Amino acid sequence: MLTTRLAPSPTGALHLGNARTFVLTWAWARAHGAALPLRMEDLDSPRKKPWAHDQALEDLRWLGVDWDGPVLVQSTRHLAHVAALNTLIGAGAVYPCSCSRKDVVSAQGAPHAEDELQYPGTCRGRWAGPEDAFADVHRPVAWRFRVTPCPVPFDDAIQGRVELDPASSGGDFVVARWTPDRWHQVGYQLAVVVDDAAANVDTVIRGDDLVPSTPRQILLQRALGLPTPSYAHLPLVVGEDGRRLAKRHGDTRIAAYREAGVTSDRIRRWIASTSGVLPSALDDPKPDVIRWSLVPRQPVVVRSHPVPDGPPD
Ligand code: GLU
Repeated sequence: MLTTRLAPSPTGALHLGNARTFVLTWAWARAHGAALPLRMEDLDSPRKKPWAHDQALEDLRWLGVDWDGPVLVQSTRHLAHVAALNTLIGAGAVYPCSCSRKDVVSAQGAPHAEDELQYPGTCRGRWAGPEDAFADVHRPVAWRFRVTPCPVPFDDAIQGRVELDPASSGGDFVVARWTPDRWHQVGYQLAVVVDDAAANVDTVIRGDDLVPSTPRQILLQRALGLPTPSYAHLPLVVGEDGRRLAKRHGDTRIAAYREAGVTSDRIRRWIASTSGVLPSALDDPKPDVIRWSLVPRQPVVVRSHPVPDGPPD
């Protein structure tokens, strides 16, 4: 049986952009008879909001999205995440790193966008263990996964062939943090790989802001002997400035539409119209109408402030 998943993060409200990804994931799963578990990705504790878990579920239900089985809260998988980290430590695939963000920025020299920080490998082979690194800097240290220069290609059902080299797009990347009191705190890249494999997820559908993460996750799958799922990265919804939909583009929270009296049907029609899908196809999804080849590859641009009249047609 095919298996995909919904993986919201309780770090903020669901807005038009992530709602579109979730509705399309749901439609694809129901059309193709795939299992659809929901995993709440709550590992990003500094950005976590106490209300966001319940609100995400409420917003999804209101949009007509359901899922299979109980909600899995990612932090409850801590032991499985740490077991995978220990496998990587045992294999010498990760090393302790004491660099702060500032260290990485200054070592990099040329200014890069924040999400393009290139780690120069400063701590490779520098510390015998995380304790040594911690004793030197007295702040949490990271476990970094060692990458060697080599493209990691994958075939994306929407984007086509993607070929990125993690060594030149970020370099050795962080998989966990270590503090003497909190022990290991595993981060997104490793947790997602471990949890997708444990849930037998063979089809990952998500926003294309995560395309650069995919080669890293493929390297982790290989290092852990886990299968690589197939990927479909949906083009994002962006504002007129071409940037990913955010607060500065106006209030596009699903809850705000609901409070303003916009019907979920209207939102679903907007999602269908921006995705090469007939509105009626979302009522009873079938494989011939929910196909990735129909989804435009360009980002969807939201032009005007959509509330209270609803999303622009
Ligand atoms: N939790 C992530 C997000 O909300 C999605 C991660 C994934 O699908 O791999 O952006």
